[in-house]
Amino acid sequence: MARLQIKKYGDNILRKKNEHVAEITEEIKKLAADMLETMYAAPGVGLAAPQVGVSLRLCVIDVDPDKKSPLVMINPEVTGGENAILAEEGCLSFPGVYEDVKRFGKVTAEYTDLTGRRKKVEGKGFLAKAIQHEIDHLDSKLFIDYLPDWKRKTVEKEIKRRKKTGEW
Ligand code: ZN
Repeated sequence: MARLQIKKYGDNILRKKNEHVAEITEEIKKLAADMLETMYAAPGVGLAAPQVGVSLRLCVIDVDPDKKSPLVMINPEVTGGENAILAEEGCLSFPGVYEDVKRFGKVTAEYTDLTGRRKKVEGKGFLAKAIQHEIDHLDSKLFIDYLPDWKRKTVEKEIKRRKKTGEW
């Protein structure tokens, strides 16, 4: 396994279209394993392929503090949601940025696992948030897109400042 470089906000890859994974090859399995290693090392609870420079619809999640519940989701889709709640959120592509985002408190999603089976998952709370955040990445959407204009501008200004000083 290998640790991959995480792309930060400002890198165009985060806004590019992500392709459907057509076949689960050895390369895809290796990518998923490397993404999990990269996510755990960060440390983080979710990582999407575009964040490591690969424009494919694949993401990994593990909200278990013991890191024992890895979820590899290939071609995932949110199929339902309820109970919208506002909760603080961060992103490995936005180091040090945390903002409140409104999302479903409970979601259902479908995805293909590494053996090629189509599966269903139901998530609440932290897991629900991670599922929606990571699937958004696959649709080239970022969590700051949900912020009110003035707040997003403040975040962008701060990132610009950090870019200048080499902190980004
Ligand atoms: Zn993210």
